[in-house]
Amino acid sequence: RRVDNPYAGAQVYVNPDWAAKASAGGGSAIADEPTFVWMDRIAAINGTSGAMGLRAHLDEALDQGADVFQVVIYNLPGRDCSALASNGELPADAIGRYQTEYIDPIAEILGDSAYANLRIVAVVEIDSLPNILTNVDPRPTATANCNTMKANGNYQKGVGYALGKLGALPNVYNYIDIGHHGWLGWDDNFRPFADLFMSQVIGNNGAGAEDVHGFISNVANYGVLHEEHFNANTVIGGRPVREAAKWIDWNRYVDEVSYAKAYGELFTQRLGHRVSMLIDTSRNGWGGPNRPDGPSSSTDPNTFVEESRIDRRIHLGNWCNQSGAGIGERPTAAPESGIDAYVWVKPPGESDGASEEIPNDEGKGADEMCDPAYQGNPRNGNNPSGALPNSPLSGHWFQAQFTELLRNAYPPL
Ligand code: BGC
Repeated sequence: RRVDNPYAGAQVYVNPDWAAKASAGGGSAIADEPTFVWMDRIAAINGTSGAMGLRAHLDEALDQGADVFQVVIYNLPGRDCSALASNGELPADAIGRYQTEYIDPIAEILGDSAYANLRIVAVVEIDSLPNILTNVDPRPTATANCNTMKANGNYQKGVGYALGKLGALPNVYNYIDIGHHGWLGWDDNFRPFADLFMSQVIGNNGAGAEDVHGFISNVANYGVLHEEHFNANTVIGGRPVREAAKWIDWNRYVDEVSYAKAYGELFTQRLGHRVSMLIDTSRNGWGGPNRPDGPSSSTDPNTFVEESRIDRRIHLGNWCNQSGAGIGERPTAAPESGIDAYVWVKPPGESDGASEEIPNDEGKGADEMCDPAYQGNPRNGNNPSGALPNSPLSGHWFQAQFTELLRNAYPPL
């Protein structure tokens, strides 16, 4: 009953909560773009002050005459184990509560026959599986919380449960997070991630291969679609940039489209059915005055990449409220072969996190990666964070960032 590409020919739901903020914040040019609805804690299901609940959104989607409704499932026990910005309301061992108080009620609402004609795209538990592959012992990037989650198996169990429950609904399209090219693109991670997924999630707690419609890259991240002036194999001064430029550091991929396509091919083989690939382009535009308009003329490979790259981050591991970023490609169905849609999962203007403790009941902590003065850790090569200053809690409106994203949009607004 599922269609091949849920975005083909579809009108996609516009979240009125986000649209109102975007338009009040100077973004009327993009306020009618579809963004995902985040179920980021149990209370979000029924709605919180200033945010509609899941049923209210779905009813509004019917009113809009939408074909596609987009939701993020994001509330695992011990969530966000490598960071503190979104570390979650459920403790590491609360897999039972995750299932009965979070996934079951969501599945019940999505399964209401009133919504049977909506194609529901569900992005399932971003960052979780990549974290238990890369941010664990014996790697230098390990964190105590990721070690705990790998050992107790609750990410794998939780994702398995979510896939099985939601995948049982014929109009739900499950998409699994593959991080981004600057995370799993290296050989040490690329195939091992597919191995982990196939051996520890498929077959675990209700998940079957048929419950996975596809994969998504770059969620809430800043990686460019195309590095227009080089690829990993470009030779400068007699050496491939892949091995000679620090920015690339032996990665096979320098951008999101090449990366997502490669994972599309790999998972199509592994799962035994065509997988659908999505990319989050909400904040990967990198326009504005610092965008290089051509390749560098340097014959030093490192200098060449530094001067040619469109992604202007200090380091690929930087993820919090990146200074200089812009709105990316507007949501588009089938933008190129191998990619089913560009989508806006992270609603532009919503913060990635705060650098100082702000009391809250949302499971949000303070994260140094959101402090521009922080000098980094092994996960960003011990570099400065590149974050904008004075950010609010993750998910809260960050007007200064929104203004910059609009200004640096690419394609320009
Ligand atoms: C936050 C969520 C928020 C989402 C979208 C996440 O980092 O933890 O609360 O809904 O971003 O902005």
